[in-house]
Amino acid sequence: MPTTKKIAVLPGDGIGPEIVGEALKVLDCLRQEFGVAVEIEEALVGGAAYDATGHPLPQETLALAKAADAVLLGAVGGPKWESLDYALRPERALLGLRAELNLFANLRPAVLHPQLIQASTLKPEVIEGLDLIIVRELTGDVYFGKPRGIRTLENGERVGINTMIYHEAEIRRIAHVAFKLAGQRKGKLCSVDKANVLESTELWRQVVSEVGRDYPEVALTHLYVDNAAMQLVRAPKQFDVILTTNLFGDILSDCAAMLTGSIGMLPSASLNESGKGMYEPIHGSAPDIAGQNLANPLATILSLAMLFRYTLNDEATAVRIERAVDGALNAGVRTADIYSPGTRKVSTSEMGDRVVAQLRAQAA
Ligand code: NAD
Repeated sequence: MPTTKKIAVLPGDGIGPEIVGEALKVLDCLRQEFGVAVEIEEALVGGAAYDATGHPLPQETLALAKAADAVLLGAVGGPKWESLDYALRPERALLGLRAELNLFANLRPAVLHPQLIQASTLKPEVIEGLDLIIVRELTGDVYFGKPRGIRTLENGERVGINTMIYHEAEIRRIAHVAFKLAGQRKGKLCSVDKANVLESTELWRQVVSEVGRDYPEVALTHLYVDNAAMQLVRAPKQFDVILTTNLFGDILSDCAAMLTGSIGMLPSASLNESGKGMYEPIHGSAPDIAGQNLANPLATILSLAMLFRYTLNDEATAVRIERAVDGALNAGVRTADIYSPGTRKVSTSEMGDRVVAQLRAQAA
């Protein structure tokens, strides 16, 4: 008997419950048709948790996330909670989970599904065959550095302060993750920094270069972040693995998302040293379309595939899910964000149903 793995499911806010609902349909089908041994437990996070308990990351949710083998998260945040004190905002729950679970390595693949080549705003020849992965450091940098805050000076003027800081050990451990990944792919690693003006990333460049000596099979290059942003839209296929800091990774991965047609297609994994992970789409709670059965659930379903690949070490199930997504796209169904003439526009729930139908067909 395989041991049953436990997944903590945190739907969150906005479109979170809708898209996670579709991933859970996929999980149910995997259990029924393929005997996948997982159990789930749901908990509140973000604005929904604040409304119910007064805190965006209640102790019970954190305890569940810590006890589980992996976490599947929808999205958090929305206008309803924007005026809250910073420490109580829904987004703090994400930072709390990342810090408490020590999820320092964020993997964000940007793969163009050939069926969506028309959905991208870039020319087909620029993106055809695109398959890159961004490795973003997730627990350091300006998001966590101290001092931080908004202060009033003696002359009455307010100043906003954040501290961009990287410790050598933080750079070293994320660099190892990126070099190993590059070694399993095309053997190309591009490290992105702003070493010409920011000392924290001058150290970044030095340490990444030092770690690179352990991986002679990987070709290491460096780019400044402004050039990297330009190269990503000019000639994205030059990249295999991009390694970068927390802040630069946040921005560059949204940019990479659009290469693939829609932010609604991009999954992510956030891993700790032992491979435990939190899996979530890279997009937010999309309040503009929440509750309307319009959101694209594929990024969340593909995040589930990453969960099987990286934490449960079940490559066969990961591939099964990815093939089912591919099959649904081949069948010509599209949510509004990836629609193009000649395809059929479907709702969030129909897209989920179509992926499940593809999975069932694989089992038949
Ligand atoms: P967003 O990613 O929620 O939305 C940006 C745009 O993309 C919107 O037009 C939205 O409709 C669209 N979009 C996003 N996901 C989609 C999907 N699955 N299908 C179709 N269209 C989709 O970013 P935002 O509007 O800047 O932020 C909204 C809220 O989400 C804010 O409160 C923000 O703080 C929060 N946020 C949360 C996370 C997270 O939970 N990881 C990440 C980013 C933003």
